[in-house]
Amino acid sequence: MKLDFGIREGKIVFITNEEVLQKVRSLGKVELGLYPTPLHRLDRLSRALGVNLWVKREDMSGVSLFGGNKIRKLQYLLWDAGRQGCDTVYTYGATQSNHAMQTAVAARRCGLRPVLYLGAIVEARPGDIRANLLLDRILGAEVHILPSEGRSTKETMAAFEPRIAAHRQRLLSEGHKVYDVPIGGSTPLGAAGFTEAFAETMKQAEAAGFSPDFLYTCTGSGGTLAGLAAGKALTGNPVQIRGVLSGKKAPKPYAEGLLELACGVLALLGGEHKTDAPFFTISSDFVGPGYEMPYKEANDDIRLLARTEGLFTDPVYSGKAFHGLMEDIRSGRVPQGSSVIFLLTGGATALFSEAEIVGDLATEP
Ligand SMILES: *Cc1c(COP(=O)(O)O)cnc(C)c1O
Repeated sequence: MKLDFGIREGKIVFITNEEVLQKVRSLGKVELGLYPTPLHRLDRLSRALGVNLWVKREDMSGVSLFGGNKIRKLQYLLWDAGRQGCDTVYTYGATQSNHAMQTAVAARRCGLRPVLYLGAIVEARPGDIRANLLLDRILGAEVHILPSEGRSTKETMAAFEPRIAAHRQRLLSEGHKVYDVPIGGSTPLGAAGFTEAFAETMKQAEAAGFSPDFLYTCTGSGGTLAGLAAGKALTGNPVQIRGVLSGKKAPKPYAEGLLELACGVLALLGGEHKTDAPFFTISSDFVGPGYEMPYKEANDDIRLLARTEGLFTDPVYSGKAFHGLMEDIRSGRVPQGSSVIFLLTGGATALFSEAEIVGDLATEP
């Protein structure tokens, strides 16, 4: 394989942000979002914390007001669906999944029929359909809710795979062609959307006149972090990328899976990366009681961000990640004077979801 980045004759060869953008875009995509998303400074919080803090607004991705990080991935995935002549898109998540809702949005934009299999980690009450599940209804997605019984979404989907497969088979026999988007859209092709986001962000930082020391984001199914990490590997950017977990995962196998995904992105872009240098770190300290389960300290930082900067994060993903960043600044893990980008992944619809997910945000005076 011809290597035009990675290691050549023992020497690491990097490419520019612009070259990364060209490489990723050559994979083919449907334009769904309103990119580039803004990168702007948080002046008041920077002053209060003693760091140079910026936010990359993936919550403002479009298509609608209720966008988020999944749209980047779906631009590439649904292009692939179109190329294969598919007319139906399947995906999977929790009942309040941002990914499932954004997939339904993207599918509608592409004239495809969305089918969602959702695990009820938090049960929707009959007659009180809220937040993303409400948006799924408005979009007319075909929604199948499965009992989670304490399992993760991945485990629930594995348990019901025979039923889901039979459904797919039935559609196939009726002449439909189904495109399958796995949980979070975290395939190498989907994650490549965040390799594009990495180069886009670093170009914006350069134009704004700073080089970030840290890039923080929330990590779940891992495509966002893996894609960003692939961008770092390609460009040799020294920024330290850190993912804050939104759900309980065994850190070592999780990190290995992410590394494999990042290498999958690099392979897709026509090369490989052969160094032992870690290109991201993961924090598992801020999940709290579990996925979709809020806790006071994280919610306190959701309020802090809203009350200093007027910005909304959500109790499931971005709020916990922001809390992780705040704690790392408070502890000095992120040293005073550092330049930091917080990639805000979206998810604020969770603020309008079930009380179990919102936690004390509604009641604190
Ligand atoms: C899906 C999601 C994440 C996690 O992104 P992954 O690519 O699955 O790791 C973070 N924040 C929000 C708001 C999300 O919807």
